[in-house]
Amino acid sequence: MASVPEIYGTLVFNDKTMRSRLPKDTYKKLRKTIDDGKHLDLSIANEVAHAMKEWAIENGATHFTHWFQPMTGITAEKHDSFISPRDDGTVIMEFSGKELVRGEPDASSFPSGGLRATFEARGYTAWDPTSYAFIKDGSLCIPTAFCSYGGEALDKKTPLLRSMEVINKQALRILKLFGCNDVKMIKTTVGPEQEYFLIDKELYEKRKDLIFTGRTLFGAKPPKGQEMEDHYFGSIKPRVSAFMADLDNELWKLGIPSKTKHNEVAPSQHEMAPIFTTTNIATDHNQLTMEVMKKVAEKHGLVCLLHEKPFAGVNGSGKHNNWSLSTNTGVNLLEPGDTPYENAQFLLFLTAVIKAIHEHQDLMRISVATAGNDHRLGANEAPPAVVSIFLGDELTAIIDAIKNGTAYDQQEKVPMKIGVHILPRFPKDNTDRNRTSPFAFTGNKFEFRMLGSSASVATPNIILNTIVAEALREFADELEAVPAEEFNTHLHELIKSNLIAHENIIFNGNGYDDEWIKEATEKRGLLNLKTTPDALPYFVSDKNIKLFTDLKVFTEAEMHSRYEILLENYCKTINIEALTMLDMANKDILPTISAYCKSLSETIASKKSVLADCNCEYEEKTLRHLSALLASAFENTNALDKSLLEVKEIGSLQAQADYYKDKVFACMQQLRATVDEAETITAKSYWPYPSYSDLLFHV
Ligand code: ADP
Ligand code: MG
Repeated sequence: MASVPEIYGTLVFNDKTMRSRLPKDTYKKLRKTIDDGKHLDLSIANEVAHAMKEWAIENGATHFTHWFQPMTGITAEKHDSFISPRDDGTVIMEFSGKELVRGEPDASSFPSGGLRATFEARGYTAWDPTSYAFIKDGSLCIPTAFCSYGGEALDKKTPLLRSMEVINKQALRILKLFGCNDVKMIKTTVGPEQEYFLIDKELYEKRKDLIFTGRTLFGAKPPKGQEMEDHYFGSIKPRVSAFMADLDNELWKLGIPSKTKHNEVAPSQHEMAPIFTTTNIATDHNQLTMEVMKKVAEKHGLVCLLHEKPFAGVNGSGKHNNWSLSTNTGVNLLEPGDTPYENAQFLLFLTAVIKAIHEHQDLMRISVATAGNDHRLGANEAPPAVVSIFLGDELTAIIDAIKNGTAYDQQEKVPMKIGVHILPRFPKDNTDRNRTSPFAFTGNKFEFRMLGSSASVATPNIILNTIVAEALREFADELEAVPAEEFNTHLHELIKSNLIAHENIIFNGNGYDDEWIKEATEKRGLLNLKTTPDALPYFVSDKNIKLFTDLKVFTEAEMHSRYEILLENYCKTINIEALTMLDMANKDILPTISAYCKSLSETIASKKSVLADCNCEYEEKTLRHLSALLASAFENTNALDKSLLEVKEIGSLQAQADYYKDKVFACMQQLRATVDEAETITAKSYWPYPSYSDLLFHV
C-alpha cells in the first residue's frame, strides 16, 4: 500500500505539480498570480490549461467543471468533456485557457434573491487561482467564483475573497504603523472542526424524515441517551474506524490535511478536524470534506448525517471555526509576541476583534442562522444565541490591568503599560477550558463555535473578516494621524478606551446558565436573537448596509438578495419538514396506531370469549390510551395541515417566516409529542420506522 506522503495531494494540481509541468516562466507568472491574489494573465492561461488537462487525463479524468458555491450552501458543478471532434470521425482532448478562466453556467436556476430580475439572468464563473484545481469523480474541478454579468456576486466565494482583500488592506496599515514593512500580505486562516453522525444505511432508508429533511421528525427517546458520557473520545468501533480510515485516505488524496478524528458526545456522533489553512482554501476544503464524508459513508453501508439536529434529546452537530490572521512572513497576529512592541501589536488586533464582535453581534448571529441551527443555539448544548467572547483568566487579567491602570502581575508594582510589558504566551489548555462560549480566545486564535454542521464556513468568515477590517480601519485612521513620538501614548489610550467601551461582550462564565442570558440581555444590553427570522432583518439595517458597502464586500442589492434567499430558505425548510410529517402521519403512523388498536381489541374479545372473567387490564388500558392519542394525533395533523394553508395567505416573506417559526413549528412539535408518546406503548413489530435505539446504537 502506498504511504501517506505518496498519496497526499495526488488528485490536486498543486504547487509541486505545477512546477514540474509548466514552463519555468509560466510557472513563475502563475505563482505570482496566486501569491499576490491577482487575476491570471490571459497570455499564460492556455499553457496552464494545457498542462492541467494533460495531468488530469493521466489521472483518469475525461471531463472538466467549474466548481462553485451558489447560495444553496452546497457546491455546484456542470461537467464538460475534453473531447473535440475532428473531421475523420475521431476526437482529440482539448481544454483552452478561456475555458479554464471563465465559464458560463446557466444562472437562472440558482437562488439569486431578486438579483436575476434586476440584472442579467446569465452568470459567469471565474477561476480562483489561489485554490488549486483537483480531480473528483473523473472530472477536473476548477474552484471558481460565480457572478452575474452585472458583476453582482451570486455565490459565497466572491464576497469571501472580497472580505479577505479588505482585511488584508486594513491589517497591513496597522503593521506599517508598527514598522513591519517586510510584510506584503496578510491572510486570515481557518481550521473548521466538523461534527457528524453516522447511521446504518438500511435503517436510514426506512425513514422518510431522514431522507427528505436530514433529521428525524418523530422518534421517542431511547432508554439510553448520552447521559453516561461514555461516547466522547471513547474507543472507535471497527465499522466507524474503517470509515474514518477511508475518509482520511480520500481527503489526503485531495490535499485536505485531515488531522484529528474522535467520537463526539452523542451516540453515533463523531468529529474530524483538518490542519488550518488560508480561509478560502479552508472553505473549499470543508465543502469537499462534507461531500466526501457522504460518499465514503455510502461505501461502508452508512449514511453521514450533517444536519444540525438529527435527533431530539441528544446533542446536535456543529462546526467550530478556528480563525486567525497570518502574515506572508509566517507570523500569527493573534499570538502574543516576544517583545513589548509585538505585544502592543497583538493587543491592538485583539482589541479590534473585541470591538468588532461587540458592535456586530447581530451579524455574528446571522452568519450562522438557519432553520437547522435554530435547534441548537440556545438549546442547552451548543453555545447560546447570545454572542459573547471568552478570553480566559490570564488575558482578562491583563485587559483589566490596562482598563484600570493597575499592574497585571502580582510581583510587579508598576501599572501595565502597552509597548513596555511583555505578555506571557498563553498555554493552550488554560485558555480552552470554557466550551460554552460562542467565541473563545484559545491562545493564538479565536474559535467561533456557533456554526451549524451543514453550513458553509464562507458566511461566518465573510462577516468576521469584514467586521474586524472595519475596526482595524478605524484604528489605522486614528493612529496614522498621530506624530511618531506620541504613537505609544495614543496607542495605549486607544486600546484602553476601546476595551472599556466593549467590556460588556467579554464573559468567561458558563454560557448555558439562565442567569447569564438574563444578565446579558438585561444588564449588558446584548442581543438575544433566538431564531433565524428574529435575526435576519438585522442584516439589512442601515448600519450593516453602510458597513458592507463602505468596505465593498457587498453591494446593497446583494445584501437584499441575500436576506431574501436566507428567509426563503428558512420557509422552505420548515415547509418541507411539515409536509414530510403530514405524509408520515397520514400514510404510516395513524394507520399503524389504528391497526394496533384493532389488534388489541381483537385480543381482548378473543381472550374474553374463552375466559369471560379474564384480566385484560394491559390490553384495555393500552387500547384506551392509544385511542386517545390517535384522536389527538389526528387533530394535530389537521391543525398542521391548516397552518400550512394559512401561511400561504401571508403576503410578506418576513411575515411568512415568522408564521412558520411561531405557528407551523408549534403544530409540528405538538404532533410529534403525541406520536412519540404513542410509539412508547405500541408493539415494536407494528411501528413503521426504526426507533431511536436502532438508529443510534446500531453502528
Ligand atoms: P480543539 O479546539 O478541539 O482543542 P485544536 O485547538 O488543537 O483543537 O485545533 C482546532 C483547530 O484549530 C484545528 O483545525 C487547527 O488546525 C486549528 N488552528 C490552529 N491554529 C490555527 C490558526 N492560527 N488559525 C486557524 N486555525 C487554527
Ligand atoms: Mg475546538
